[in-house]
Amino acid sequence: MLRKAVYAGSFDPITNGHLDIVRRALCSFDQIIVAVAFNPQKDTALFSVEERVEMIREELGDLGERVVVDAFEGLLVQYCDAMDACAIIRGLRAVTDFEYEFQMAMMNRHLNSGIETFFMTASEAYLYTASRLVKEVSRLGGDVSGLIPKGVNQRLKAKFADS
Ligand code: ADP
Repeated sequence: MLRKAVYAGSFDPITNGHLDIVRRALCSFDQIIVAVAFNPQKDTALFSVEERVEMIREELGDLGERVVVDAFEGLLVQYCDAMDACAIIRGLRAVTDFEYEFQMAMMNRHLNSGIETFFMTASEAYLYTASRLVKEVSRLGGDVSGLIPKGVNQRLKAKFADS
């Protein structure tokens, strides 16, 4: 049986920090499902779900069937069940991430105790990389290369050039 884990998030857009987590998680799981979570009622994302999925596929295509890129709406534990995944991967950068992540993990366990949450600490190089900050800096014309993949950087620049 394949050990599958879901790595869910907004990924608006995917950063090198996220990609690093996916590649490292492959040491412990057979397959990682990178799932873009969206909520049509309160979606304030810069990129559409389709764009986000496309960018992630572009960056992780070299890993073949070990990585599946998808999007989902609704409860994460229900999505995990539907995908036959027994684990949720989350990345931790700092203490500030911890409280929110801990609360989510507890709630998910309450909803389905058969799905375990695994926390992975961010690599030192990406401790301060956050999609929100990357967007803000890029919008103001700052250089965020090195923190996000080249293709994502181009798309970000194009977005802000249009607006
Ligand atoms: P959210 O689910 O809050 O929308 P994101 O899409 O930004 O979060 O990120 C998804 C997951 O990846 C979260 O667990 C987040 O803490 C983690 N993460 C975000 N950026 C990094 C990074 N630079 N290094 C490690 N983990 C990260």
